[in-house]
Amino acid sequence: MAKRTFSIGGVHPADSKISRGCKLEYLPIPPTVYIALSQHIGAPAKPVVTVGDKVKVGQVLAEPGGFMSAYIHSSVSGTVKSIGPRKDLSGNNQMVVEIAVEGDEWMENIDRTDTLVTDIPDDPKAIIEKIKLGGVVGLGGATFPTHVKLSPPPGKVCEMLIINGCECEPYLTSDFRTLLEKGEQVVIGTAIIKKALGVAKATIAIEDNKLEAIEHIQKVVDEFKSKGPEYSGIEVLSLMKKYPEGGEKQLIDAVMHRQVKSGGLPIDVGAVVDNVCTALAVYEAVQKNKPLIDNSVTVTGECFPKQANLIVRVGTPLNYVIDYLGGVPEAAAKVISGGPMMGKSIANLEAATMKGTGGLLFLTREQTKRMPESNCIRCGKCAEACPMGLEPFLLNRLAKAGDTDALEANAVQDCIMCGCCLYSCPAGIPLLDIISQARGQVMGIMRARAAAAKAAAEAAKAAAEAAKPKSE
Ligand code: SF4
Ligand code: SF4
Repeated sequence: MAKRTFSIGGVHPADSKISRGCKLEYLPIPPTVYIALSQHIGAPAKPVVTVGDKVKVGQVLAEPGGFMSAYIHSSVSGTVKSIGPRKDLSGNNQMVVEIAVEGDEWMENIDRTDTLVTDIPDDPKAIIEKIKLGGVVGLGGATFPTHVKLSPPPGKVCEMLIINGCECEPYLTSDFRTLLEKGEQVVIGTAIIKKALGVAKATIAIEDNKLEAIEHIQKVVDEFKSKGPEYSGIEVLSLMKKYPEGGEKQLIDAVMHRQVKSGGLPIDVGAVVDNVCTALAVYEAVQKNKPLIDNSVTVTGECFPKQANLIVRVGTPLNYVIDYLGGVPEAAAKVISGGPMMGKSIANLEAATMKGTGGLLFLTREQTKRMPESNCIRCGKCAEACPMGLEPFLLNRLAKAGDTDALEANAVQDCIMCGCCLYSCPAGIPLLDIISQARGQVMGIMRARAAAAKAAAEAAKAAAEAAKPKSE
């Protein structure tokens, strides 16, 4: 029988998972951490500590700055040295809390033992509150606050929870190692999220290049069935390896055969998708009172002498991580945060890790070389590869002409910046760079239009209220 996968586009880059044999290892605590106040989509968190405060591991540093925002906790114990701007990995200023490390003293309510806690709290609202207080955000790249995702808007019903264990980006292996080494916690986290959503079915989806993980998680799921009703209805699904299987919309298509419409959300088709590391973070927040203060990071690349999957305290400077493994190799010409398809080039190695940092990839000059650009030969390979059903060659043309109306009409805003078009183009056209820039421009226009429409509706409502005859 043909293996399941998503139905539109996709490519098959070499998986290059050369760090797959590297067990999770705790990185020593650095002397100073720089914890960003904006580690999630939505408004930055508001600091509740001041310079000179003594803090412990797990203590709240900042509270959510809005609905779509998350708590930020200290990943170390020590003294707050400063709160102010610092350059992030792209070289842009971000507000951070700088903490000089002293010892490793944790908040007393955090359970640091290895004992597995399998009994799941009864009250979904209490679960979601604990997830919120734990500062849990999506660790598959989007950093969407998890408590918001688990509270669908009125009228929307979740029919299926999908736990994303695809890790389809080449080189990255921290999800794979988490499935192998913390599979029990991932399964408990899955059951907790299932309970919070009040949904009967959950699927842990893993690509078929991770057979050991599929076998291990299946074994855990089978064993845990006897532990309570929350553990029933969880299935493990092996998917055909194809990039970008881990994209939310692609994964829903592969698992549920449902398509999320342009501008729509997974919940519109009855799905909620969370990454395996998010399920682990949910387990730790709900069962162990441990907020999201560390995460696993793959450090890899053919030119990097020591591959690793490290558990890193949030706010650790990147150069501290790299120095621990021997420093930047001479042959490295580029360092990427994340994988080669969707990752970001790092301009500043003094930047610190964030909750969503999943990988550091070192590439040589040879590996980063792009073929010389030539004219489009209208081969259609980019459109064939696009998992969103877009026509990248057309978007490229419209972007060069600056035609934002036509770009919007041709759904540039649906681009998930997966890079499949760039990967497929025989003419070496930098489609991803051009399209992502155009996407940003069009999304800005769409946001401004929506804000203007909202303001006009509010003004009309206020005018109608004012025009009403007064009763006295
Ligand atoms: S980067 Fe955008 S346009 Fe290119 S293949 Fe991916 S979704 Fe399609
Ligand atoms: S893949 Fe490149 S050459 Fe082929 S149609 Fe697309 S843009 Fe043109």
